[in-house]
Amino acid sequence: MSKIAIYPGSFDPITNGHLDIIKRARDLFDKVIIAVNNNPLKTFLFTAQERVEMIKELFNVSEGIEVESFRGLLVQYAKKKGAHFIIRGLRALSDFEYEFQMDLMNRKLNPGIQTIYLMTNQRYSYLSSGIIKEIVRLGGSAEGLIPDLVEKKLLEKFT
Ligand code: ADP
Repeated sequence: MSKIAIYPGSFDPITNGHLDIIKRARDLFDKVIIAVNNNPLKTFLFTAQERVEMIKELFNVSEGIEVESFRGLLVQYAKKKGAHFIIRGLRALSDFEYEFQMDLMNRKLNPGIQTIYLMTNQRYSYLSSGIIKEIVRLGGSAEGLIPDLVEKKLLEKFT
C-alpha cells in the first residue's frame, strides 16, 4: 500500500521553509499532497488558485507531488484522498499549542490518521508567510527566504 501524506496549509505565499518541509516529506512518503487551504472565513492575499498555480510552477510535474486546494474538514479530505498521514512543520514553541490541539481533535475525528511533525530547518525557524508579506510590502529583501517566482508575484500584488 503506498504511503500518502497531506501537507495542509495556507501557503499565502509558499516560502523556503515550506519547501524544505515538502522535500523532506517526499523522502518519507510515496506521495505528498500539498493541500492549499481555501477556507472562506479566512482572508488571503493570494486566491486559492493563485497559490496552487505558484506551487505547481515551482514543482513542475515532480513525481510524487500533487497540489490542490481544499475546504472543509481536513480529516475528511484526507480520507477522500486515501491519505493516512498529515504533515505539519514546527517552528518555535508558539506553534506547539495550536498544533497539539489540532492533532488531538483530528485524532478524535479520525483515529486512523496520524499527524507527523517535521522540525523546521534552523535557517527558516523565524520565517513565516506573514513576515514575508510585510518585508516585501515595505520594500525589504526576502532573498534566500522565498523562491524568485514568489517574490515576483508579491511585488505584482503590492504595486
Ligand atoms: P496554516 O495557516 O495552516 O498554519 P501556513 O502556510 O502558515 O498555514 O503553514 C503550513 C504549515 O507549514 C504549518 O504546519 C506551519 O507550521 C509550517 N511552516 C510554516 N512556515 C514554516 C517554516 N519556516 N519552517 C517549517 N515549517 C513551517
